[in-house]
Amino acid sequence: MQRLAPFLLDLIFPTHCLSCNAITERNDTHLCSNCIENIINIEAYCIKCGSMTQTIQTTCTNCYKKNLNFKKNFSLFSYDSSITKILKKLKFTPSDFLMSKLDIFYNIFSSKTKVLAELDKCIQDIDFIIPVPIHKNRLAQRGYNQAEVLANIFAKVFNLVVKNNILKKEKNTRFMFGLKAPERAKELSNAFKVSDSHQIKDKNILVFDDISTTGVTLNTIAQILKKNGAKHVYGFSISKTS
Ligand SMILES: [Zn+2]
Ligand SMILES: [Zn+2]
Repeated sequence: MQRLAPFLLDLIFPTHCLSCNAITERNDTHLCSNCIENIINIEAYCIKCGSMTQTIQTTCTNCYKKNLNFKKNFSLFSYDSSITKILKKLKFTPSDFLMSKLDIFYNIFSSKTKVLAELDKCIQDIDFIIPVPIHKNRLAQRGYNQAEVLANIFAKVFNLVVKNNILKKEKNTRFMFGLKAPERAKELSNAFKVSDSHQIKDKNILVFDDISTTGVTLNTIAQILKKNGAKHVYGFSISKTS
């Protein structure tokens, strides 16, 4: 009976891949074999924006002459990765099933990838994490801030503290998928406010986002934190366009 149990369970309650929804065997990754193959770890990356590059520890062509506000910037997966689809679902079509499987991110943050090994070397230097905030109207609609949910899992793995009371998003910006960097920068100008600059004075802060495309959101926040007295700002996103 015991050996039959998983088989019966699959028959009665088939499990679905978190990324593509295909019916799949039960496994710890909650992904089908196609989506497991399509997890694209970033190995070499630009230290300014976190994008995937050809060689390790270089600056990409986009950032070469830019003065970005990060000490370092880390991203785990290429935007084309199956993991990005899960992040988008978490943002736009959450379900109880998805919410019950978020241990996938605990496993991801605990894995020994090159980027996480590099990040681990900086952990001692980081005082706390600030997740990219969302506007209160959007929080009311969605019920949670996905960046904060994921930052809490990340914080558990790296034994860090998440502070969600320092930075507020005051402007309810429109959805920015498809907007180019200058348009995003315009939309985001004056969108964020530091509510308590005493808490960030001389601190080293990791700003945590789920998906980073143009990098404008993270960079805008880093700029504000530094203006308000932060010493160093690290950027982190789970998924990043190159
Ligand atoms: Zn799949
Ligand atoms: Zn770059």
